[in-house]
Amino acid sequence: MPSQHRWTDAQGRQTVQTIVKKLIPQWSNGLYSYQEDVILRVLDGQDVLCCLNTGGGKSAMFSVPLIVLREMTRNPHLYPRLRTRARPVGIVITPTKGLAANIVHELQKLDLPAFAYCHETITQSRKKGENLVKIIADCKTYSLICVDPEHLRDDSWRLITASDTFRANVIFGCVDEAHLINEWGAEFRPLFKHIGAFFRGRLPSTVAILALSATIQPGVETNSICRSLGFSGNNFYHLRLSNERHNLQFIIQPLDHGFSGDEFPELLEYLNQNRKTVVHCRRIEDLQRLFMYAFDSLPPGLDRLRRIKTYHSLHSFDVNTETLRLLDEDPMCQAVFATVAFTNGLNIRSIVDSLAYKFPKTLNLKLQEGGRAGRDPETRARAVTFIQPSVLSDAEKQISGRVDAPKISRKTGKPVRTKKTTPIEHSAALVLSESKCYIATINRIYQNPPLETSTLDCISAKRLLPCSLCAKRKKINIEYAPSPLPTDMTLPPFIAPATPQSAPLTPEEKKLKLTRKERDPVMLALEKFAEDVRRTEQYHPDNHHRPKSSYFPSSMREHLAGKLLALDSLFALRALLTSWNFASTYAGSLYDLVVELQATIRSDREAARVEKNAKQRATRLSKKALQDSEMSEVDDNVEESEHSDVDDDRRSSPIPPPAKRTKTGSGGVLKEVTNRTKLSSGRKESSRGKKSSKTKSQANVAKEKQTLATIAAGFGPAYRTTSDRRRARGG
Ligand SMILES: [Zn+2]
Repeated sequence: MPSQHRWTDAQGRQTVQTIVKKLIPQWSNGLYSYQEDVILRVLDGQDVLCCLNTGGGKSAMFSVPLIVLREMTRNPHLYPRLRTRARPVGIVITPTKGLAANIVHELQKLDLPAFAYCHETITQSRKKGENLVKIIADCKTYSLICVDPEHLRDDSWRLITASDTFRANVIFGCVDEAHLINEWGAEFRPLFKHIGAFFRGRLPSTVAILALSATIQPGVETNSICRSLGFSGNNFYHLRLSNERHNLQFIIQPLDHGFSGDEFPELLEYLNQNRKTVVHCRRIEDLQRLFMYAFDSLPPGLDRLRRIKTYHSLHSFDVNTETLRLLDEDPMCQAVFATVAFTNGLNIRSIVDSLAYKFPKTLNLKLQEGGRAGRDPETRARAVTFIQPSVLSDAEKQISGRVDAPKISRKTGKPVRTKKTTPIEHSAALVLSESKCYIATINRIYQNPPLETSTLDCISAKRLLPCSLCAKRKKINIEYAPSPLPTDMTLPPFIAPATPQSAPLTPEEKKLKLTRKERDPVMLALEKFAEDVRRTEQYHPDNHHRPKSSYFPSSMREHLAGKLLALDSLFALRALLTSWNFASTYAGSLYDLVVELQATIRSDREAARVEKNAKQRATRLSKKALQDSEMSEVDDNVEESEHSDVDDDRRSSPIPPPAKRTKTGSGGVLKEVTNRTKLSSGRKESSRGKKSSKTKSQANVAKEKQTLATIAAGFGPAYRTTSDRRRARGG
């Protein structure tokens, strides 16, 4: 039957308000007017681009139209004649299955049957012998289907969208987290770029296309998304509200340590405030290091894995879903360490702190990360980014257009080639280089209305939670309440684990320190040992969620290698590894390995010592032989000089022969004297030139001979010169 009214008319608005009040009493204040504006347009089949803050109620935009139409199907006599469908259904494109599962979970609370179309649920359905295509196309079982762009290519979706029933009942195609069309569509997941083509090509033209995001910057970014979805001119409704979060403090905290180590003391300062927290990590390796640090900071014996959890793509879908449930429902489950999968769209209402190591690639992603905290507007939340100070100065240089002069190599005098660093995204660099107010800068970038006040600093704008720059400038300290706990429950504090690396080496240990050449094979052997432990232990139920790196952590291996040669007993080894979870089982076999490595290193060192000594002895002997031959030459020269008037080239050489000492004292003196005289004669001759030195030289030689004879006479017959000895022999 043709409709009499449009939804955007007063009767449509009234109908939506009535149904929401009736079916969703938990929303005591009903819908915001901007939500109604979007919902009514979706019901009328208009396209909508909607940008508003995280936690601004975007999910109502796609859930309420379905709730309203389902109620109209159940009780048509209660409502005016408006355009409706018998079995209304909508499609939401979600970037991750985690977000899909999260939406399904949330919609269950609103009694709206939804389905996350992903690998796991498809498999489950197949095992049950269900015909999923028929179930979805019939529009009876599920009112909302969440699906990722990649699955839209499946034949199943060709069949679903070709079904007459489905085409008659589908009311919208929605893309959640629409900023990813640009961010992921470019390289990471190109099918994001094809969502618009799917909607336009496969769904009836009367179906509304809805794009939602908290982080689409005006200008180029918005235009690109509009082009991709086929929005142009006035043919779509563009809702842009401020994405500023009034209950969220934006904090950038420079680190005073590197990020490559295994210690993160600043993390514990936040965790010890006992607030529900998400710790965002860029890579799974970072996640494991951070998680292990927090894990080791909790007292053993306690169910540590209940207090802190991990959420990433290596977990099964069920494990991740369970983690999200526990975070919301178990008061003891305090923190989740998550990779990027967590940052897009998940709605965990209890989270109040969002901690992130390193700034993400784009400002959009940063706001998405931060947006996970403080979904309950009544709470005070924080979005903290721990960052290396060098990143802040890089951003500042990039924005100011300053480029450092290239470093010049001392050796070659040429500029040293440095690694080309990727430029920071412009919006991110603007924020990171900011020195007055982060929020004012972000509001300027997103053109958050009203610009007259949104671009003022936090103090002038009287923000409830000033950003870290404004708070520091004005010395404002904000108190943050812990997350609620049952009265009979207390949480033990996180205490930084003893850091083996910080204990200084004794002088004896320094002697025993391994060289790099010795250390490499040791580290390799310990790594292999760690892998053996993991292979053996990974199937134990207690270790189901244990990160790979935690079986024999690298920090422990480093520490052990540092003290390897100092370990003289199994007892000493155990003392070194008190915090190792597997010490009771593996200390014995590890000690066997230690002894073996020690023996190899000691035997190598001994062999090296013997070889070095042999080399030194050989050098000494060859030197001695050289000296002896030189000595006989000296004697011969002295002898020759008695008989020859012609100078020898060697004698005029400016380089003196080495001084020689014999073992007996007076003989040595004699020889030294001989040499000294030769040295002085040599110097004189060389300075004067050969020709003119001839007669002088002869005179000197004669003089020296006399001196030598005098000295020799003084010492007696035992210390005669060679020529004396020859003379004595009658030569
Ligand atoms: Zn500020």
